[in-house]
Amino acid sequence: MRELANPSLQDIKGIGPKMLEQFLELRISSIEDLFYYFPNRYDHYEMKPLHELQHEEKVTIVGQVILEPVLQFYQKKRSRLVVSIKVDGAVVKGVLFNRAFAKKHFVVGETVTVSGKWDQHRLQITIDQYKKGTMDEQSPISPIYPLKGNLKNAQIVKVMSNALEQSIQEIDELLPEEFLANYRLPDRQTALRTIHFPENFKLLKHAKRRFIYEELLIFQLKMQLQRKKHKESTLGNAKTIDRDKVEQFIHTLPFPLTNAQTRSLKEILHDLKSPYRMNRLLQGDVGSGKTAIAIISLYATITAGKQVAFMVPTEILAEQHEQSLIDFLPKDVNIERLTGSIKGKKRKEIQAKLSNGACDVIIGTHALIQDDIQFHDLGYVIIDEQHRFGVNQRNALKDKGLLTDILFMTATPIPRTLSITAFGDMDVSKIDEMPKGRLPVETYWVKHNMLNRVLSFIYNEVKKGAQAYVVCPLIEESDKLDIQNALDLYVQLKEILDQKASVGLMHGRLSNEEKEQVMNDFTHNRIQILVSTTVVEVGVNVPNATVMMIHDADRFGLSQLHQLRGRVGRGHKQSYCILVADPKGDTGKERMRIMTETTDGFELAEKDLELRGPGDIFGVKQSGVPEFRLADLVHDYRALETARNDATDIVQNKRWNEPDFQPLKSYVQSHFTLESDLLN
Ligand code: ADP
Ligand code: MG
Repeated sequence: MRELANPSLQDIKGIGPKMLEQFLELRISSIEDLFYYFPNRYDHYEMKPLHELQHEEKVTIVGQVILEPVLQFYQKKRSRLVVSIKVDGAVVKGVLFNRAFAKKHFVVGETVTVSGKWDQHRLQITIDQYKKGTMDEQSPISPIYPLKGNLKNAQIVKVMSNALEQSIQEIDELLPEEFLANYRLPDRQTALRTIHFPENFKLLKHAKRRFIYEELLIFQLKMQLQRKKHKESTLGNAKTIDRDKVEQFIHTLPFPLTNAQTRSLKEILHDLKSPYRMNRLLQGDVGSGKTAIAIISLYATITAGKQVAFMVPTEILAEQHEQSLIDFLPKDVNIERLTGSIKGKKRKEIQAKLSNGACDVIIGTHALIQDDIQFHDLGYVIIDEQHRFGVNQRNALKDKGLLTDILFMTATPIPRTLSITAFGDMDVSKIDEMPKGRLPVETYWVKHNMLNRVLSFIYNEVKKGAQAYVVCPLIEESDKLDIQNALDLYVQLKEILDQKASVGLMHGRLSNEEKEQVMNDFTHNRIQILVSTTVVEVGVNVPNATVMMIHDADRFGLSQLHQLRGRVGRGHKQSYCILVADPKGDTGKERMRIMTETTDGFELAEKDLELRGPGDIFGVKQSGVPEFRLADLVHDYRALETARNDATDIVQNKRWNEPDFQPLKSYVQSHFTLESDLLN
């Protein structure tokens, strides 16, 4: 038997030991929890004349029973009860399935209210709720709660109504008076009453508005407190950067920085110099020049006499980035690469260089955070394509006690609402501008019946010396089909090309070595056309590739499509993205259209959020986006911004100490594990 956090839940009328158990499963263990168990929708018994009822909609009808109900049994235990109800001079047939016991409730001559699905053609209603008497005797807007196990909605309704009657006065206001007044929000008790038993939809809307703001504010407070903690927990991390050397280094680069790069670099250097610990996210489209900024900032750290670790998700990326480091950095900087496949003597050597300080910068996979790796004086960690590292790996870094400055980089543009929720505890820099002179990728959307033309287009590009990706979507739960698609295209291409070009195949069932081999062959142009399931590595750079063909493109979200498109357009030649899709729904069509209209990753990300919701952008598990009770990141954008500003104000200006903020302060203290001095 589990302990109850608040025993008084048992004092509510109608709550017995059985229900207590069931409540625990719903994570309801106190009266407050019960009150915060909100309906997920409401039934509204609104009466309309018969001719205004919508076919197939849920409707409510009041009328008089005119005939003795007819009960029929069929199969073994199934039954059908038919009642005839006179409404507005017409006779409506009401049908109840498997509820023989209801017969006695329909007495000839009496008035009943029934609701259920309406069949306009047959003047028939499939009754799921019924009540004696007319409308006025029942609540006009009734709550429908999310249910689990044996609990019935009616039970929760009853208990909730008892709880409100018995204990609502125990619920104190949480929000400062000032906020309630400014935003015209109802007080907590009123809002709770309304959200369970709304008098009308207008009041319900206000009650919801209050709880949305409340949950966003509390969430943002948590974020801002964590942010403050990151900053203040590691004083004494200031680096003495050699400005002149950094300036000189920037001048050696073969290009001027874009304004967005300059701005982001300034923000990062400021963090590196400051005594606080950097916890920053650098966002920018593929090719916007994030890596260049990472390299400059890591060079700055080296001029301060510290070591740098640069972590990437795959071995191939590690190699590619190592090459960029070698190309860009001055010769006297010692660069090493460490991945899982580097073992034995070589690994020992690298370990030694890291621990004695001979190595300035190490690039590698998560092999870098293994226990046998010790740094002499690590000052800065850069993590590329950060969403590819699960939350766990991110935390492993923290757990390892790497109290260094950390820069996360991502090429998945994150809509603002998501970046201030999933990454609300971070500072964010954004490179929202492409280097000059880039040829934007031309995007086309074609139907499947054009496939042959697309394939010959690809062949023409290959004849000109370029390379192409052909991507097939991963079809969930059907590994076989997924490979089959790729295989079909692979065979088809081989036939068309008839050995005039080399076609490679890559899919999830290949071993890591085989994948690496294929990727390597593609990188070195030994494969001209790479047919692949979505395992094409994020961040892989093959500037000679000019075509990205995406098969069944409507199966991808916008952000993914954009990521894939980012694989091409990296060289000097015009590149193309060809979306092959026959989308059925409007959303799919809309997505294809948007892709052909913009190459701005941030714009696409906002659209993607609207079309698909937050969970899908990174995949729910890894996103770190919390599940909100009521708030919705697409529609409650403004509430989120307001909550964020208020939370920042409270934390930065230490408004905790004002009397009106005490309830909020104790709430935060009792619900989050915080260092005691964080609120001071
Ligand atoms: P990201 O890491 O954001 O994908 P990179 O830093 O790898 O982008 O840059 C992509 C390509 O553009 C690289 O070849 C890089 O050398 C080049 N590049 C970076 N910044 C600029 C710039 N300001 N002007 C021109 N080319 C640039
Ligand atoms: Mg990159």
